[in-house]
Amino acid sequence: MAEMDTSRKAFCVLSYETVKCFSFQQIKRDACLQGLPLKKHIDATLGSGNLREAVRLPIGEDLNEWLAVNTVDFFNQVNFLYGTLMEFCTSSTCPIMSAGPKYEYRWADGVKVKKPVQVSAPKYVEYLMDWVESQLDDEAIFPQKIGAPFPQNFREVIRTIFKRLFRVYSHMYHSHFQMILKLKEEAHLSTCFKHFVLFTWEFHLIDRAELAPLNELIEPIVFRYF
Ligand SMILES: [Zn+2]
Repeated sequence: MAEMDTSRKAFCVLSYETVKCFSFQQIKRDACLQGLPLKKHIDATLGSGNLREAVRLPIGEDLNEWLAVNTVDFFNQVNFLYGTLMEFCTSSTCPIMSAGPKYEYRWADGVKVKKPVQVSAPKYVEYLMDWVESQLDDEAIFPQKIGAPFPQNFREVIRTIFKRLFRVYSHMYHSHFQMILKLKEEAHLSTCFKHFVLFTWEFHLIDRAELAPLNELIEPIVFRYF
């Protein structure tokens, strides 16, 4: 357990494959994250119900560490939420990755796939989550030892991760909200999304134009808390 306190990797990432059996995800995540001071801070402030306070950089903490810990957390949340909808989000129900009728997302990672390609929503989410996971696993970006330096472009990577995770929220809200209601997941989704938006807003992680598909949800959140 002592090792867990000094190693980000140890508490870090559940593989997307693992999370595909999402029912145990929450348990595993909580089990491997406990003991980490920043993670404890997030849980304590979230537990208090004060989402605004939960996103603020704690006094004396390193900004990059704070971004890193939260990024892992948000990745796990999106993974979990989408996991509950996976059986309803198929290449027949969602042949393209969209956020309502006005927005379509095409996949490109800028490395393996340079020219954006049209893929089904489940394929898109799979590529996206695999990509995020590969970033979190890359020690040159998320150094394993807490206290080790972060790369110069760290903020840029974080912004891309958030931009992409947001697209999964967009798709879930626009294409699967009825199912979310049926599964009675609305309250949980809404709390996760609120937390995500407030964090994003606090650290300017996503451009306004990217947020447009969920503007109606975002504006009241931002208006209330900022
Ligand atoms: Zn879908």
